[in-house]
Amino acid sequence: MRIPCPTCGPRDLREFTYIGDALRSAPALEADADTWAAYVYTRRNPRGEHLEYWQHSHGCRQFLRVRRDTATHVIHAAACVGPHATEDEA
Ligand SMILES: [Zn+2]
Repeated sequence: MRIPCPTCGPRDLREFTYIGDALRSAPALEADADTWAAYVYTRRNPRGEHLEYWQHSHGCRQFLRVRRDTATHVIHAAACVGPHATEDEA
């Protein structure tokens, strides 16, 4: 699988680190232990198009939001996220 880094161009998967599901958000700090346990230990396993965070850890080190089909590994979009992001494509 190749991920199209907006800064470096298409690069091999081995240059990237999977960060996590881009659709999840942490519960409120005052949430109960069961809510936090579910957040930390429970993962979805979606089939089809999905938004994920990746880091180009062996390249420009940018964090990316990638829209990827988890069944076919086709990447539909990738965009930088964070304070240096210039556009929002994914
Ligand atoms: Zn890069």
